[in-house]
Amino acid sequence: MPIQTNMKAEVKAITPHLIAWRRDFHRHPELGFQEHRTAGIIARVLGDLGYEVQTGVANTGVVGVLEGQQSGPVIMLRFDMDALPIQEQSEAEYASQRAGVMHACGHDAHVAVGLGVATLVAGHRDEMSGALKLVFQPGEEGMNGAEVMVREGVLENPRPDVFISAHVWNSTPAGKVDVSAGPVMAAAGRWTCIVRGRGGHGAMPQQTVDPIVAAAQIVSSLQTIVSRNVGPLETAVVTVGTIHGGDAFNVIPNEVKLSGTIRTYDLSVREIVVRRMGVLTDQIARAYGATAEFAVDGLTPAVVNDPEVADVVREAAAAVLGAENVLTGEKVTVSEDAAFFMQDVPGCYFFLGSANASRGLDAPHHNPRFDVDEEVLSVGAGVMLQAVAQYLFRPLSHGHRET
Ligand SMILES: [Zn+2]
Ligand SMILES: [Zn+2]
Repeated sequence: MPIQTNMKAEVKAITPHLIAWRRDFHRHPELGFQEHRTAGIIARVLGDLGYEVQTGVANTGVVGVLEGQQSGPVIMLRFDMDALPIQEQSEAEYASQRAGVMHACGHDAHVAVGLGVATLVAGHRDEMSGALKLVFQPGEEGMNGAEVMVREGVLENPRPDVFISAHVWNSTPAGKVDVSAGPVMAAAGRWTCIVRGRGGHGAMPQQTVDPIVAAAQIVSSLQTIVSRNVGPLETAVVTVGTIHGGDAFNVIPNEVKLSGTIRTYDLSVREIVVRRMGVLTDQIARAYGATAEFAVDGLTPAVVNDPEVADVVREAAAAVLGAENVLTGEKVTVSEDAAFFMQDVPGCYFFLGSANASRGLDAPHHNPRFDVDEEVLSVGAGVMLQAVAQYLFRPLSHGHRET
């Protein structure tokens, strides 16, 4: 029976498995690049389903490829696997069994959805034109595991034509999704600045170059970049996250270390921010007789959705949930390393509503009480399956489409 005929019933039938997988991963969370148990389960499931499986990509990543009978596009879906170093506060029977480690971002749900889609598509392999490439990524949480996977060749053999990924999202109610074209998540950069002066006795500042005073001026001046240099309709964040200097109350230290983050959507805005940070840190330090060493690194690009792929995902979501449950316009200053996959491959990253306030399932991401409404599992698998079907189970030129 063609995949389109019975899709809703097939998703429904697999839902108990989605929940069981999600709860199992939730009980056994693993930090980035240490997802050995999780990866082992994924590799076994994919192997049993007939996928060609590659393990150990970027240490613990797993890639599964399923080739159809006919040729066609290669669709890549990506699911991140890592948990966070947070002590869970939960009374749920599936609460984390590992002290100090918790799935506080919902990546357990992502893996479950991925295994669900893997299972459903495998059952229709003989109808498929093209290939499905499932990428289970380690180390999303601030570790840029995606960048490591790209470096290790995950975008080759076969090269994907389209990229799709999603995140469970606790600021949107379960049963709704948000699909937008254009930028949806910000580029993130980590910056550091060392302000060097000349230390001395706290009672004789005239003999010193005080880096604390210079650093204080720098912190204040950095606030003017967003308000005075970035256009009022553009978006940027400049945050000073740490400031360290001095060990004794009566000593002026030699140096002060600052660090923080920059968030932008637009490359030209990022260039303005970085350039101004360099000028301000350097010239303010020099005005006080000090020097500043400024650097930006660890940059994740912005997640920018391709309009055509976003259209396909939006239509898929509307077919599964009804158009009234498909929102648009979510855009956050959080960053996401899926951007590394999307730099070369047109893609869509969308948000799967997972909150249920009436059941207390609406704690923010990275909170010790984070939990999701498990309805998100069948919604996620259903929308992704429908989107995959648009590419792999129909002629590419979908002029008219029966629903
Ligand atoms: Zn997270
Ligand atoms: Zn996350």
